[in-house]
Amino acid sequence: MPDALDALTISRRIGPELVDLRRRLHRIPELGLHLPDTQSAVLEALAGLDLEVTVGESLSSVVAVLRGRAPVSGERPVVLLRGDMDALPVTEQVAVDYASERPGLMHACGHDLHVAALVGAARILDELRDELVGDVVLMFQPAEEGPGGAEPMIREGLLEAAGRRVDAAYAVHVYSADHPVGTWFGRPGTLMAAADEIVVTVRGLGGHGSAPDRTRDPVPVACEIVLAFQTAVTRQFSVWDPVVLTVGRIAAGTVNNVIPDDAVIEASLRTFSPEHRTKAHEVVTRVAQGIAAAHGLTAEVSIGNGYPVTVNDVDEQSFAQGVVVDLFGADRWADMVNPEAGSEDMSFVLEEVPGAYLNVSACAFADHRDAEDNHSPRATFDDAVVPDIAVALAEMALRRSRQLATD
Ligand SMILES: [Zn+2]
Repeated sequence: MPDALDALTISRRIGPELVDLRRRLHRIPELGLHLPDTQSAVLEALAGLDLEVTVGESLSSVVAVLRGRAPVSGERPVVLLRGDMDALPVTEQVAVDYASERPGLMHACGHDLHVAALVGAARILDELRDELVGDVVLMFQPAEEGPGGAEPMIREGLLEAAGRRVDAAYAVHVYSADHPVGTWFGRPGTLMAAADEIVVTVRGLGGHGSAPDRTRDPVPVACEIVLAFQTAVTRQFSVWDPVVLTVGRIAAGTVNNVIPDDAVIEASLRTFSPEHRTKAHEVVTRVAQGIAAAHGLTAEVSIGNGYPVTVNDVDEQSFAQGVVVDLFGADRWADMVNPEAGSEDMSFVLEEVPGAYLNVSACAFADHRDAEDNHSPRATFDDAVVPDIAVALAEMALRRSRQLATD
């Protein structure tokens, strides 16, 4: 693979600059949809390259299209590479000389490494443009930690940014624990859960605690609904495609001798397949409304959709894993047995376009069992992995677009 060698050589040459960019970003963490300082740093880092750059309207995203120069006979393939850019409301407790300069804010999920790596991929692809068949869309995304940046970027035209729809999409996430530094890990199919918020309001008719027959008491009905939820989870869903439904809050009434008008149940629903997610929404609604109706009350069910299930396309996952193994060796890959119960808004892109989301350990400890997880104020990331992520993303784009052009 001559261009693998070239891409690796370039990544090693530009590595120190990428690490420097990561550390500059680490000092200036920003939250949510609007990341003006991060956006400026990205635009500045991309400034010397021949790219078609657009910035978001409703959020401070950056989309850059890089056009290949290799000849292509049919339609030009389009590959998307994604890096998320936002930080967390965490006070950093890591003693590094590039620690956060913003009290209460920290890049505790390593998205600063993602930004630097995506800039690195852009620089590698820029140098290897003569070998690139088709076009690459570079997606610099705000608000992964909430309220979600991928969905508004798709609405603003992300997937058509190159003039043709994206054919395949890839993303990489760093972890501060779990594996020795430099180990890549992932799995085909479901990678992360969908997380939805459920609010059930049981509407009854309040009154005197001594005369429940002249009321429609929502309290026992709410209790029955909570228990029926657990029965529904175990009786209506296969154990091989788990559903987790946790009632974290239940509230009703003010005092012991007054029957309230309403009772409220708040629950968190996690599912690992789109099928069970849809079914769980139906089951929760039917159970709550059915039990309320059986007692002559009503139940309103509102479901706040969080991020969908993150699903790796089986072929794309196998391709991306192959690139990693080819670049770094089979001993740097670990299969994930189970999906993670967290969620991720790259899922919105992967719902539209086949692709793969891989993880890599950036653990900064000699023994990864001593390390703290992402989101901890003590999460520490070894940015020596940044050039590796850059070259892996660049190679995914180079190789997949070549395959797409000959398919
Ligand atoms: Zn993250």
